[in-house]
Amino acid sequence: MTDWSTFSDACGSADHVPALLDRFEADASGVWSELMDHLCPQLDTAFSASFAALPRLADLASSCGEEDRQWVLLAAGAIMACAPSDSDVFEVFSAPIADLHRLTDQCLREAGDPENYVHLLQCLLSFEGVEIWDRCLEGLQTGEYEVDCPYCGVNMFIVIGKDSCFSASDDYSLRDVERVPLRSAKPEELEGLAKRLHDRTLADGQQLVARGLPYLFGRATCPDCGTACEVADRIAARWML
Ligand SMILES: [Zn+2]
Repeated sequence: MTDWSTFSDACGSADHVPALLDRFEADASGVWSELMDHLCPQLDTAFSASFAALPRLADLASSCGEEDRQWVLLAAGAIMACAPSDSDVFEVFSAPIADLHRLTDQCLREAGDPENYVHLLQCLLSFEGVEIWDRCLEGLQTGEYEVDCPYCGVNMFIVIGKDSCFSASDDYSLRDVERVPLRSAKPEELEGLAKRLHDRTLADGQQLVARGLPYLFGRATCPDCGTACEVADRIAARWML
């Protein structure tokens, strides 16, 4: 039995967490925000009780209906995205994490909507201990990243849109703001994680997400000083700040 009094969440003692998890089980979409306020506020901080909840979340994800399952996986994925890749959490909770990974893998094939898909793909990476991209794929779905130029430091918008992909150093909705086209990587030359994500999104029929990945792992040019840079490196640099 888990002794919840030995753990803490965002509000202090975790005594109340089992009851909160009971309510989450009964109404996953309705209680998700409240659960996250306690176990993963702003989706960027986890506590001892957050990790202690993983076995229960894995059980829930296995037993609940399809619609609730996404909420459960998103909760567990947000928690795991807070664990550094060398954290002992991966060892201590290896069994529930393996279950959560397997269920996310299944859900991805049926995700449909690109927004759901990208969020679940981030969960999959968080269960694998992949850092940065377990949070930073979202721009593929929103269509925008903000990064710094490595040379002049100007704030650049990287737009990976349905119709055009470019960088701009100012509000690009304005008509006279310069847009410099991004240079896409060649899909056949993608390697490592970039290749795996590209192959996976294509296999899952997520054409829109797959189309953005060569731009995410391609190059951009600073509109102000003309310096070329790797988009993914700049996103990672902003993330590490
Ligand atoms: Zn620059």
